[in-house]
Amino acid sequence: MKPTIQSKLPNVGTTIFTEMSVLAQQYKAINLGQGFPDFLMDSAITDLVNEAMQKGHNQYVHMNGLPALREGLAEKVKELYNTDIDANDEITVTPGGTYAIYTAFTTILQKGDEVIVFEPAYDSYIPNIEINGGVAVPISLSYPDYSINWDLVKEKINAKTKAIIINSPHNPSGALLQDADLKKLSELVLGTGIFIISDEVYEHLVFDNKEHLSVLKYPELYERSFVCFSFGKTYHCTGWKMGYCIAPPSLMKEFRKVHQFNCFTCNSPTQFALAAYIKNKEAYLGLGKFLQGKRDYFMEAMKATKFKPLPSYGSYFQLYSYDGISEETEKELAVRLIKEYGVATIPVSAFYNIAIENKVLRFCFAKKEETLQEAANRLINVK
Ligand code: GLN
Repeated sequence: MKPTIQSKLPNVGTTIFTEMSVLAQQYKAINLGQGFPDFLMDSAITDLVNEAMQKGHNQYVHMNGLPALREGLAEKVKELYNTDIDANDEITVTPGGTYAIYTAFTTILQKGDEVIVFEPAYDSYIPNIEINGGVAVPISLSYPDYSINWDLVKEKINAKTKAIIINSPHNPSGALLQDADLKKLSELVLGTGIFIISDEVYEHLVFDNKEHLSVLKYPELYERSFVCFSFGKTYHCTGWKMGYCIAPPSLMKEFRKVHQFNCFTCNSPTQFALAAYIKNKEAYLGLGKFLQGKRDYFMEAMKATKFKPLPSYGSYFQLYSYDGISEETEKELAVRLIKEYGVATIPVSAFYNIAIENKVLRFCFAKKEETLQEAANRLINVK
């Protein structure tokens, strides 16, 4: 007899990002699917990594993250969100934002606990909840503005609700939570035992002079929150898989119990490099404008096609509607665009537990201008 696995995730296949990237490679398509830049990161940071390695910073750093990096992050949070956080007790460096979110779920969930998830949702959330014995309670964002209907949230909250996961700037829609949303959320969780997991990996990628409203700015929310960030999105190095989680001391204490027996500590040379580079404020303060330029460039180029943009106020992404172009499902069209036109996108239906078809595809515009132009050129004749 051979051992067989009783799957912990029986309904899960390969993530849509990998699926579309593999297909894109196979057909040599331009990849506007998976969210990653195709331009180089600042060589000042890679120089700092080299320097750190050559100086011998190649052994374990503290399991919570290099102290100098955590101190730099605490200063940044104070400046950006006017919140005092303790570098020792409230920040842990993680191998990416997704890991931070997973660890937060593992820290808080007991069997049968419910978690409210807004859909379309980043595809790791629901499997993260289920593998930890939780039950996802999906709520659809309103189409086409992807806003939250708080009356629905109120209806879904009950004694089993353990957490609500929010994400702003939102992947895949590019929508932003407003002050009224965070106030409404504060009202609904006041006096309950509900935790908030706030996915803020696109915190700096905000356009049109809008402001990113971090949960860190709302003390009544922060006291119950795990706030998750990504260095990959901030410094154009998604492959580094480096991020961090911020949470109040009592929450962070439990988070670290899970973290220490999983990853234990993240790679050290990049932490030395980031600790030095984080002092360069321009690098993150100028990001919104930089990406906004790319969004606008792509929108201009896409005017020559029949695709219609939905507004994007933040993130790497913009949704385009193909209403009036095709009757195919989002996945069918996304696959055909790769095979016949050489452009990869992500079907938004993949961000729902039970697919909802609004005829929209997600395009990643964090690319060189020539990449964006070439992709738009290839889409001109789509029928
Ligand atoms: N966050 C990236 C996206 O949304 C992909 C990350 C991944 O491939 N898991 O495209």
